[in-house]
Amino acid sequence: MTHIAVFCGAASGTDQRFTQAATTLGQWLATHHHTLVYGGGRFGLMGTVATACLAAGGTVIGILPQNLFARGVALPGIKLTITPDMATRKQQMLALSRGCIALPGGPGTLEEISSAFSWARIGDNASPCAFYNVAGYWDPLAAMFDQMVSAGFLTATDRAKLCFSADLATIATFMRDYTPPEIRRY
Ligand code: AMP
Repeated sequence: MTHIAVFCGAASGTDQRFTQAATTLGQWLATHHHTLVYGGGRFGLMGTVATACLAAGGTVIGILPQNLFARGVALPGIKLTITPDMATRKQQMLALSRGCIALPGGPGTLEEISSAFSWARIGDNASPCAFYNVAGYWDPLAAMFDQMVSAGFLTATDRAKLCFSADLATIATFMRDYTPPEIRRY
């Protein structure tokens, strides 16, 4: 029983498989007695994963910055925390969670999961980072991380600390067996 941070689009995307995967992930978190920690919004895949988790009897914690809360984006029925800004929200989501999963999403999702992984490499995040790679959505990013290795910006050992998978059982095993990267040396 663990808190898992999920990052995902505030839009649903064009492929129905993204919405299906967000539903599957929300249900999976609930049935495995994990608490969903997410951005607190009601739109797009964010709303889908949280609604599915709640409907399956799960616990959902939403962490939303004040400015977005004022714009009425919060999903009703969740445990909501309001933060002064996005940076505090991100920090609180990571502090509460023991794993991070990215569903498909846009720049916000990419920024959040990238920052979680970059913090892991400097010793500021002990949680594993996984990409739920629905319909190969994250394949170009996986290739980009491979390129970072071949270009000498990321070690192969640290690259192996990221999981890309369309299978939640594989992600769960990766998270169970994870040890954080060694703190970077320069
Ligand atoms: P994106 O992937 O660009 O759609 O951005 C989604 C991420 O950015 C979420 O995980 C949130 O942290 C944040 N975000 C962007 N828009 C919203 C919104 N309307 N409600 C809540 N969070 C949002």
